[in-house]
Order: sequence, then C-alpha cells, then structure tokens
Amino acid sequence: MKKSTLIFSLALLTGASCITSCHKTQTKNNEINYNVEKFYDLEVLRYDVPDFDELSLQQKKLVYFLTEAALQGRDILYDQNCMYNLAIRRTLESIYVNYPDKQDEQFLLMEKYLKRVWFSNGIHHHYSEHKFLPEFSREWFADALKYIPEEDRLRIQGDKRVCGTEHDGVSGIFSPIVFVMFDPDYMSKKVNQTAGEDLLLTSACNYYQGLSQAEAEAWYAAHKDTSDEPMWVGLNAQLVKNGEGDIIERTYKVGGLYSEALERVVYWLKQAREVAETEEQRLVIDKLIEYNTTGNLRTFNEYAIAWVKDLDSRVDFINGFTEVYGDPLGITGAWEAMVNFKNIEATKRTEVLAANAQWFEDNSPTAKEYKKETVKGVSAKVINAAILGGDCYPSTPIGINLPNANWIRKEYGSKSVTIQNITDAYDKAAQGNGFNEEFMLSDKEIEMVRMYGALDDNCHTDLHECLGHGSGKLLQGVTKDDLKEHGSTIEEARADLFGLYYIADPKMVELGIMPNAEAYKAEYYRQMMNGAMTQLVRIEPGKDIEEAHMRNRQLIAGWVLDHVTPDAPEVEIIEQDGKHYMRVNDYEGLRRLYGELLAIIQDITSTGNYAAAKEIVEQYAVHVDKKLHEEMLERYKKLNLAPYKGFVNPVYTPVTDKDGNITDIQLNFTEGYAEQHLRYSRDYSPLPTWN
Ligand code: ZN
Repeated sequence: MKKSTLIFSLALLTGASCITSCHKTQTKNNEINYNVEKFYDLEVLRYDVPDFDELSLQQKKLVYFLTEAALQGRDILYDQNCMYNLAIRRTLESIYVNYPDKQDEQFLLMEKYLKRVWFSNGIHHHYSEHKFLPEFSREWFADALKYIPEEDRLRIQGDKRVCGTEHDGVSGIFSPIVFVMFDPDYMSKKVNQTAGEDLLLTSACNYYQGLSQAEAEAWYAAHKDTSDEPMWVGLNAQLVKNGEGDIIERTYKVGGLYSEALERVVYWLKQAREVAETEEQRLVIDKLIEYNTTGNLRTFNEYAIAWVKDLDSRVDFINGFTEVYGDPLGITGAWEAMVNFKNIEATKRTEVLAANAQWFEDNSPTAKEYKKETVKGVSAKVINAAILGGDCYPSTPIGINLPNANWIRKEYGSKSVTIQNITDAYDKAAQGNGFNEEFMLSDKEIEMVRMYGALDDNCHTDLHECLGHGSGKLLQGVTKDDLKEHGSTIEEARADLFGLYYIADPKMVELGIMPNAEAYKAEYYRQMMNGAMTQLVRIEPGKDIEEAHMRNRQLIAGWVLDHVTPDAPEVEIIEQDGKHYMRVNDYEGLRRLYGELLAIIQDITSTGNYAAAKEIVEQYAVHVDKKLHEEMLERYKKLNLAPYKGFVNPVYTPVTDKDGNITDIQLNFTEGYAEQHLRYSRDYSPLPTWN
C-alpha cells in the first residue's frame, strides 16, 4: 500500500516539558523471576543486574541519571516506526485503564493486542515487520472508545487535522486510527525490502513522508558529504516533501523534530555529566548534549570519536539515533538507548581477543589486499545492561559494535560489547523447555550443546562483535553504502562467518578462551540447524525472510549446504521418521566451507560489488523452503514456546537524605510487564501524538 495517499498534518507542538518524576523507595527483592509472561509468539523475561552493589555511589548516580535519559526517548521510536503508533498506543492504553469490565472476552483480546504493541513499539511485528491485526471486533472497539475520558481524547487528537469520514460509527480522530489498525492492506509492512518495489512508498515507517525512493536517493546523492571525515547525512532527520514539492529535512533535535523528548534527554545528560567518572566520559556526555541541541552532524562525529576513546570508565551508555535497519534505505537512525557497566571478570576474555586482533586479521582466509595492515583500537568488553531503551527494548541485542561510520572505525577503532546478563537471562529462562530434544539429531548433539552452548554463544558473540565487524578493509573509493539494501545482510554474514571460522581455531584453545578442541562443535551444529531450519519458526507461513540477521544466518547455512562435497557431504539435512534433522558429518570440513564463504563475502564487501551481493542474498537468504517451513512450525507449535523474547527493566529508585541528597540507588525486580509500560507511558511520554 502506498503511504503517500495519506493527508499529513505536520504542525509542531512545543509544549513545556515537566522533568520531575515521582519516586517511591522500594526494597530489593533477591529472588528474580526470569519468566514474566507469554503471549502470541512473544515471551517477556527479566534480567538481573549483577554487581550493581559493587559500584561506587557516584557510579550508581551516573547509572541512574543515564537510565532516566534512556527512558525519555521511548516515544520517539514509536513515532519513527509509524506515524500512527503513538495515537494507537494512547487510545488502547486509555481503554485499558478505563474500560469497566476487565473480564470481558473482547477486552482480554484487546489487552493481548496492546501487549503486542508495547513489545513491538508499534503496530508492526518487531522482527517480521508485518502489521499484526486485532482479534477483537471493530464493533466492540468502536463502542469501547466511549470510555476514553475527554482529557485523553484531546491529547490523542492533538493538532491533527482529521480528514476521516465516519466509518462503522467511528468519527473524528478515531476514524483514521481504527482504519489503520483494522485494514489488512494499509501500511501492512514497516520496512519493505522487496527488490523492484518503491521501498519508501511501500514501507509504513515514518522516516520519509511523501517521497518516492528515487527522490530520496537523489536527495541523498546531492547532499552526500564526500570529504575525508564525512558527516552521515540523513542520520538524524526525517525527509519530507511539502505542499510545494520541496524536500525538507526535519532534524531530530531540541527545537526540531522530537524536541520534547530530546529536551528531557538533555536534562538528564546534564545531571549525568556532573558525576562523570573521567574527563573522557564528561567530554562524551558534553558532545552528546551539544549534538542533541544543535543536530550538527560534525558534532556527532566528535561525539562518536570521544565515545570510542572513552575506555577507562566502568559505566558506559548509548543514547541516540543509532542503527539504520528500520530505514528501508539504511540511512536514518532509530532511537535507542542502553546503559551498562563493565563485567570485570568476563571482560578478561575479550581483552585477550582484542590483544591478539592483528593475529586474527593476518590469518583470516580472506584475500591479502582486503586485510588491514594494522588493526587499530579494537576494544572489547563484557557488560551488564542496567537499562534497555528505545530500539533495545523490550527486545534487545546480545552484542553491540559501534560506531557505524566506517571512517571513524578505520581511524579510531570501535567499541564492542557482549551483554552477559542478557545472555544469562535467556539461558536461565530456556532451561529444559524441550527445544533441543525436538530438533537436534541425537543425544550427542544435545549433550554437546548442554556442555558448551552458553560458552560458545558468548565466545561467538565476542568474535562477531569485537573482531568480525572490525576486520577487513574497503578498497579505495568503495563505501559502505555501495551494497545498498543488501549491505546489512552482507555485513552481518561477514561478522558471523569471522566468528564461526575462528571459534574452531586452535588459537582459541591456546589463548585459554575455549576449553578444548571439541567445544566449538556445539556452535557449528546450532548455526547450521538454526540457519537452515529452526529459525523458520519465527516466520509466518507463506512469508519470506526480511530481517538482516536472519537473512545472514540462512545465507550462510544455505550456501554451505549447496557447496558440500557431493559424495561425502560435510553436512546435510536428513530425514528420520518423517522429520528433518541437521547432521554434521565432518566438522573440520564445515569449517573449511565457512572459511571459503568468508572470503567471498569479504570480497563483495571490499569491492562494493552490489550485483554479487544481490545475487547471493537473493539465492540463499530470502526464500523459504515451504515444506520445511511448515514442518518446523508444526513441531515447534507442539512445544508451546515463544520464538521472540523481550525484557522488563528493573526499577531504579534514588534514596535521599533529609536535604534531598542522593545517598543510594536501590534496585527492584518485581515490576510487571503491563505495569511497567503504563508507568513509562505516564512518566516518560513527552511527545505530542502527532509529530
Ligand atoms: Zn553484527
């Protein structure tokens, strides 16, 4: 469906922001319930924040102020994902709170839908990108709207110029809202990556309004910064075509788009700068404040460089427009935030990798001309997340590698983290759920994964993040954008393959990271099984694979299966009692295949070979084997598990003395899922409904 047929209302509201929030003191509950709740294909978990008590008071205050800054941007992501998301969320929340009969069958279906909206930061599935439809009836919903108090209705209406006619008894502001929620075809996909279609006009995300893909690409081409230290033009702005046909950049900044939220972010960053651990860290925060205030992309580069250089602080954070997966053109950043602090013990592992970065670069199976002569500034650490926000919440990555600007990575290196407490929470929540027993070939594989699965997972993530993404170089004149819509898939495949190739290297045992020469096999088995088979449980019947990480995993497994030795396959899918299983016959041979593919993917990356990227992605990464898909879904369904996980955050509460000075920060792990989202929508929701 075309997005441009909508009539948009773009007036900016700049209301005064209230930056005080109320805190109640709670005591810490040591018993953590990791499994919170399940609905649809989603499961909400909880994570622990180990070693928080180890931090000094100053560090705890820093964490607390940064968590406040992290929560203030929540609304931004909703609006970026789709311009109707805030209106729909606020409408649903108001009915949720005010509807009189909380046991009504239709009400319970709406509650389920709302939980899904919270999970996805909007009406499109956070992973598949498809719009999910309500199970409650339009008629019931139309009637339930009458319980929305006038105050809420005015807030939802905002300054929206309503063009909607009455449908099914719904009029005014709720008419377009109901239409967007219930119409299966309108805004049906958040990010469309289908080659040959206009990716902007067919995507529901809100990074562009009224422009075709060709117009946006022409605009970016005309405004591209070709200097040696280029600005990432478009990173922090929405592109809009106005009534006169002019293309206008609406910059995300204080006084610009999303001002109300960014003002509060800046307020909390200013508190944080006062308790910064080091001068380097204070500079990071100051630059971020300046960038949020001016929107200047040169300042953003300075901020990113300062952030890479800040290595000694224990507490660290991300806060801003970062990953570009949500933009069909891969240019504009989705708002995300994470506050974390170093896990000292586990970081020793990644420090060893970082110290040997050059060895890994020199010995990789890629062509010599694509290797870096000197791998600079590969820093890696293991962290505990203290709060997840924006694009990291509720669903979160387990590793992060930033910044994304290639020239900064080349000149200054990058920072890479593995988020250990999140991995641990997944592990704890998944114990004994029957998944491995159903999908793995035999007890041998199950036992192997039981012994080494968690360790392999952490090591593979370390390799992927701290060496994989940072390895290799682009040839002169090649840029990261050359691979266009396939860039993310190829880049993730490159990092994954780097990790797969090296996790089996004797060097890993020699360095004391892997315990023995067998332990890597659990990772190999799982990668093949997951990439070719079990990850399909995340895809709806009849759909193809859209998300870059999933595409990358299928690309790797699919390519390998297609390149095995014909009469002695290193790895194969076999059938047993009517079920399909992955069987690895030769782990060393499998490693050789991973290495060959790594060389190919590095070649595509280093030369910016768009045609080759397109070919390999389209051949292996996108299409789903329908029969195998059906079988996976059927077997998976019987296990009654949820394929996607997300989290609730802990609650941080400052303890103050009689003069109002903070004397401690307490942690609480008991808040429920709905409770948390309603609180966030009450205390951290500064944006107007229409932006
Ligand atoms: Zn990655």
